[in-house]
Amino acid sequence: MTFTSKLKTDDETARLAAVKRYQILDTVPEVEFDDIIQLVKDVLGAPIVAISLIDSDRQWFKAISGVDATETPREIAFCDYTIRSPEPLMVNDTTRDHRFAENPLVTQPPGLRCYLGVPLQSPDGYNVGSLCVMGQEARSFTEKDVDVLRSFAKLVVSQMELRLVSRKDALTGTLSRAGLEQCLASAFECPERDSVLLMVDIDLFKRINDTFGHQAGDASLRHVARVMQDGLRKGDQIGRYGGEEFAILLHNVSEQEACALANRIRENVAAGAVPEIAPERVTISIGLAPLHESVASVGDWIKRADKALYQAKLNGRNQVVLHSDTVVALHGDRRTSVR
Ligand code: GH3
Ligand code: MG
Ligand code: MG
Repeated sequence: MTFTSKLKTDDETARLAAVKRYQILDTVPEVEFDDIIQLVKDVLGAPIVAISLIDSDRQWFKAISGVDATETPREIAFCDYTIRSPEPLMVNDTTRDHRFAENPLVTQPPGLRCYLGVPLQSPDGYNVGSLCVMGQEARSFTEKDVDVLRSFAKLVVSQMELRLVSRKDALTGTLSRAGLEQCLASAFECPERDSVLLMVDIDLFKRINDTFGHQAGDASLRHVARVMQDGLRKGDQIGRYGGEEFAILLHNVSEQEACALANRIRENVAAGAVPEIAPERVTISIGLAPLHESVASVGDWIKRADKALYQAKLNGRNQVVLHSDTVVALHGDRRTSVR
């Protein structure tokens, strides 16, 4: 494989889009990537190994071993040099390299003395990050080291591609349940993101299938997914949780904003026509659960949104219900825990 022929280094906007396409930034650690860096560590005898993605103003580590860090500013990232070229970046002694001698990662802990990084090149030719090994002592890297690291870098990209495919739902193009669960886990880890979970269920969908057939049902599912996607803001996440059930994760919203957005989506779904079932309309019910401090786990969070959704169905469908903590505290009753 020739890295040089396909590499596109001159379009930072498109490169950033390639990074975002992987939907991997700020996600929780995953064993597949941790395993790769452990292997690299063993094979190359390197004390520090990282998979670094270069975001607009930071490098973020999908996996790292040997130092305790999740990200660094982009301007001090060695990997930001690596991605500017198709070739590996090899620094045998950072103190003798004018580009890095004054770098805080060299002059302060962790005190990097050597670095070898290979770009992570997406299939469409963008360097999205790098796989790199580092140490606190000077080292003469060999051609063999470079070859080994190159092979592992290809493996990292393959894994990122596989991860992406496995996270997509084939029918609707939204996230799969596995993809959703990762987003939920990441959101749960960052309560300061003010996340709200929406559980969405298509109303009386069995009747649509029974009346118009399974293909019309599938068309309705795609319609609902598309309308909902159109109503979301940048950074919001949507996935198919089960048969005719979706989950949406909103970030940086108040309860009121989340309710307003949910209602808009609900109205838009009902207003849109699906030719396969016309003049019948498809409607949805939505249960909302904000990530309050009292949410004990991801499972608890989902349960709350489910309860609210159940209430929306009981209330007559085609509506939005917000799960309310305070009522749970007062009554401790399942039915009254939503309003
Ligand atoms: P409710 O308003 O209470 O949710 O009623 P409902 O009919 O939507 O609920 P129910 O759970 O009884 O039916 C869900 C139906 O969704 C049953 C199942 O056949 C259908 N379904 C699940 N996945 C798919 C799919 O991928 N394609 C199609 N066409 N139908 C599906
Ligand atoms: Mg259902
Ligand atoms: Mg349903």
